[in-house]
Amino acid sequence: MIPVTKPFLPPQEDYNEYLQGIWQRNWLTNMGPLATRLENDLKKYLKVSHLLFVTNGTVALQMAIKVLELSGEIITTPFSFVATTSSIVWEGCTPVFVDIDPKTLCIDAEKIEAAITEKTSAILATHVYGNPCDVEFIETIAKKHNLKVIYDAAHAFGVEVNGKSIFEYGDISTCSLHSTKLYHSVEGGLIITTELDLLKKLALVRNFGISGFDSFAELGLNGKNSEFHAAMGLVNLNYVHDIFDKRRRLTERYDCKLSGLKSYKPEWHSKANLNYAYYPIVLESEELLLKMKGDLDKQEIFTRRYFYPSLASSLPYLPSLELPFTEDISKRILCLPLYYDLTLDEVDWISGLLLEIQNS
Ligand SMILES: *Cc1c(COP(=O)(O)O)cnc(C)c1O
Repeated sequence: MIPVTKPFLPPQEDYNEYLQGIWQRNWLTNMGPLATRLENDLKKYLKVSHLLFVTNGTVALQMAIKVLELSGEIITTPFSFVATTSSIVWEGCTPVFVDIDPKTLCIDAEKIEAAITEKTSAILATHVYGNPCDVEFIETIAKKHNLKVIYDAAHAFGVEVNGKSIFEYGDISTCSLHSTKLYHSVEGGLIITTELDLLKKLALVRNFGISGFDSFAELGLNGKNSEFHAAMGLVNLNYVHDIFDKRRRLTERYDCKLSGLKSYKPEWHSKANLNYAYYPIVLESEELLLKMKGDLDKQEIFTRRYFYPSLASSLPYLPSLELPFTEDISKRILCLPLYYDLTLDEVDWISGLLLEIQNS
């Protein structure tokens, strides 16, 4: 069986070493020494000035919307994981969907301005598959209309634009460290901002808004993460180089073996590095996609329609809106298996089957 993804697990001894310390200290959660160390190590690794380790990527988005005091409408992309949209609704705001650029699969920045109304408070865009949005253009629009910018950078761990971490663009960026992501802490999330005032507020919000033994400074929630999760993050950080390297080799192998496939991959931001988070292909038709997916399922090779369906036309709590490029692409895009334990032979096998199906 070949799953579409499989969490990376480090050697168990590496993790066990951290457990001893946790037992000795008897400090299990609430901004413990391992969580603090993970934040410091990640700041250095990612070259960002401020960062918070939180419960997960979804809570990170909710906290970002809350501390920026957003209300009314938030312009966003319908081509993302459901948490991007649901966080907006959860925080009492209205998502306004703007279609994607069919080449990059990120929000079409050129179409944002037309969607702005007097109720718009922010833009919440996703770096889809880790491919950066047109961050410079979005910044220009945001400045002109006095809007806040949040990036759902759940897929973008390790990506830099012009040599600067993608996490430092926008007012706040969020990342997910969920097990299925390329670098993970089992469950976990990151919030990154370059503004110290926002960071301080986020840190309070993460801990119920508690500012001292007997005082409350903010409306807060429980956005903390545990020492056990931090330990997994610390161990996995030692392997992140190997993870990128293996994913790069698998990706290049797919690229080579699938050169005869009538499909395309998202056009990557010209000034960004790849992080090999996913291997998406846009096929010629939904019919061909279903045939390929069905035939691979029979061989127990699991692919995933990611992202499908469009968030603008499928959520029961929102009016349905069909945006042409998102509808079209979401029906034709398929993510192929990509994970650390996958072998080059397996990539060859999967690629061979796809070509056979196309040519049959
Ligand atoms: C995974 C993911 C999230 C949610 O992250 P969790 O850590 O699972 O809460 C949000 N947005 C995108 C684009 C994701 O892929």
